[in-house]
Amino acid sequence: MITKVIPINENLNKNTLEEIGECLRRGGLVVMPTETVYGLAANAYDDDAVSNIFKVKGRPQDNPLIVHIADLDELERLCCDIPQSAYKLAKMYWPGPLTMVLKSKNILSKSISAGLDTVAVRMPSNEVARAIIKASKVPIAAPSANISGRPSPTEVIHCINDLNEKVDYIVDGGRCNVGVESTVVDLSGATPCLLRPGGITYEQLTEVLGKVDISSAVTGSLMNSPVRSPGMKYRHYAPNTKVVIIRGDKDKAAEYVLKQSEKQSVGVLCFDEEKVFFHNAKVITYGRMDDPQQLAQNLFSKLRQVDGLNVDIVFARCPEGDGIYRAVENRLKKAAGFNIIDV
Ligand code: AMP
Ligand code: MG
Repeated sequence: MITKVIPINENLNKNTLEEIGECLRRGGLVVMPTETVYGLAANAYDDDAVSNIFKVKGRPQDNPLIVHIADLDELERLCCDIPQSAYKLAKMYWPGPLTMVLKSKNILSKSISAGLDTVAVRMPSNEVARAIIKASKVPIAAPSANISGRPSPTEVIHCINDLNEKVDYIVDGGRCNVGVESTVVDLSGATPCLLRPGGITYEQLTEVLGKVDISSAVTGSLMNSPVRSPGMKYRHYAPNTKVVIIRGDKDKAAEYVLKQSEKQSVGVLCFDEEKVFFHNAKVITYGRMDDPQQLAQNLFSKLRQVDGLNVDIVFARCPEGDGIYRAVENRLKKAAGFNIIDV
């Protein structure tokens, strides 16, 4: 298949948009920028198109997809028993990096919900994404535009590397602002539950909702237990190189890494200001420790660089905290398969 790459500077004119919208409506696949990460878009009504998303990504069938809409009216077309809390959240944080899990009306392709009676819905704020969804005139299923398991794409080159010749269009929108995937909150139960931390923080959710549970999928490895958000159980965001989190005082971490480097070749993924402590290792930095937004924006592209270090193991320094730190911590710990060494 020939993939048409639409460059960022070529203004998405009306004709191109209509072409892309038509392609989606007819069952094609389109990579589009969003404010979180790049998405692999398909018509959510179309069984074959949705099935192609799973094929092209190599995504496990039991990992449901998020449906993207550009208009609040769409929510009621797709979902039933919508609680007031959903409207409150939509008013505050839509369009934006927030996904709500709600009871489904079951009008979309079955594999979107992977057998659950709920559907995950988001209204992105990225203007290109919104224009593409509007042009398609259908709800758009869009997981991250990467091969499953690899770090999510935050720059168009990541999508080209993973999906060139497997999709109809790749639309360049520059670097993604948020850099990590949307916050997922489940509103289908008695108490709202955070299934995945992201650009809208836990604190922003509790401001609107009051009590919000945090799924154990957010904090720990769930490889072998039943989960409410099936996607959370898979190893994710991972380079081929083994990644281990090294937690604790930086001097002790440096000492530990030095010892390890006598036995094997070692890389380090750390904060800018810690670089000087790891002189015996190949180092990649991903931003200032006190700038969680920058860490979130850089994390996935830096994880993609890890294999280029050609080392046996990479030790990563991981933030722990609230706000955006929670999303960075979650993604990095998942990339490490929750392997953590305390020093
Ligand atoms: P991705 O498409 O890679 O951003 O992943 C979508 C995330 O949303 C995965 O973690 C899914 O498990 C989660 N998700 C999608 N639909 C549902 C749903 N109906 N119920 C719970 N989690 C969902
Ligand atoms: Mg993904």
